[in-house]
Amino acid sequence: MSDPTPIYPAGLILAGRRVVVVGGGQVAQRRIPPLLAAGALVTVVSPHVTPAIEGLVGELAWVERAFEPADLDGAWYVVVATRDRAVNDAVSAAAEERRIFCVRSDDATAATAWTPAVGRHESVTVAVFGNRDPRRSMAVRDAVVDGLQSGAITGRSGRERVAGVTLVGGGPGDPELVTVAGRKALMAADVVVADRLAPRELLAELPPDVEVIDVAKLPRGRAAGQDEINRTMVERARAGQAVVRFKGGDSYVFGRGFEEVLACQEAGVPVRVIPGLTTPVTVPGLAGIPVTHRGVAHEFTVVSGHLPPGHADSLVDWDALARLRGTVVLLMAVENAPAIADALLAGGRAAETPVAVVCDGSMPTQRTVVTTLTDLAGALVRADVRPPAIIVIGDVVGVALGQAGTSSAAPTA
Ligand code: SAH
Repeated sequence: MSDPTPIYPAGLILAGRRVVVVGGGQVAQRRIPPLLAAGALVTVVSPHVTPAIEGLVGELAWVERAFEPADLDGAWYVVVATRDRAVNDAVSAAAEERRIFCVRSDDATAATAWTPAVGRHESVTVAVFGNRDPRRSMAVRDAVVDGLQSGAITGRSGRERVAGVTLVGGGPGDPELVTVAGRKALMAADVVVADRLAPRELLAELPPDVEVIDVAKLPRGRAAGQDEINRTMVERARAGQAVVRFKGGDSYVFGRGFEEVLACQEAGVPVRVIPGLTTPVTVPGLAGIPVTHRGVAHEFTVVSGHLPPGHADSLVDWDALARLRGTVVLLMAVENAPAIADALLAGGRAAETPVAVVCDGSMPTQRTVVTTLTDLAGALVRADVRPPAIIVIGDVVGVALGQAGTSSAAPTA
């Protein structure tokens, strides 16, 4: 619309103040609850009112007759919502004379106040004036409230900051697949300690004053790295910073998350955990493979393949696993997959058991290699599979994907 009317936005404090609503129909009915919520002393003037308004009598006063100018005496604010133009004009005139701001539902150009589209999120009130285009104002209002809810918009008022350490599970890698709570925590952080497999694109969206500590770039070996991470989180939290520990998948699935929780607890630092979408479920899902299917698999077992079968430190009973009939999902298993396949075959799993290897799940480079248990080792070499990859073993693969081969896109339903 051209020629926008210049307006001066203000937030009215109406608690304990007389507000007169003239009219008792649907429009009045919609305007009344926010006035009551603001604590206004609402008087409705109208010969008839809707049952909903009548139900509010007690919380509001109902003057059961036609409008008279004296109804506005002592009022701070007037809302006109009758269907009769002459009545609306009379109310406007009476309000003008008394210098009371007056909202008109029938003709915004004749009003001295406009009602914005209102949204709320936590302690923030969003009010949008769309220059008399209510759909536009509502759409903008919805976008802003959505942004606040999702964490895409953050006032960073300090109020949302959570002291201590928050472990955030980032999901498989696509920035769309982080939880709303996780995103919020990230955007409100002072420091983000990020893992290699955490969705990195989200880091680029952080406000510029957020410090990112990239764990992948920390020097030294794995164990030393973990100590260093724990120490960094505790130190920063003690210094009063809001620390987010940002990981791939879910922090408690082979993520060493609980070690970090314990380190915080031992140091007396408050710690909370926001779960993430875990890759042994979501990565097969993104590749079109359900980890369970009625009549095919009544269980799925998630196993770390970082140690080969027979390794002194291994906690996995590979024979028992081989006897199960359901789905086996292997993480961190690219290197040891040949030895694992041998152990499962030796334990009784069928040679032709279908296997899918899903690489780079949820990333643009996602691809799936379909093979069988006997052929797994060869297929990994031929397809040059590198981590991160999820290996899914079981009949669900055959049901979902059928024959061996490679595909880069998930099958559509
Ligand atoms: N905490 C994570 C798992 C960490 S272990 C979770 O809950 O998902 C790391 C292993 O996860 C990798 O070796 C790989 O097997 C798997 N992984 C993580 N992200 C992946 C991705 N985008 N695609 C395929 N596998 C992935």
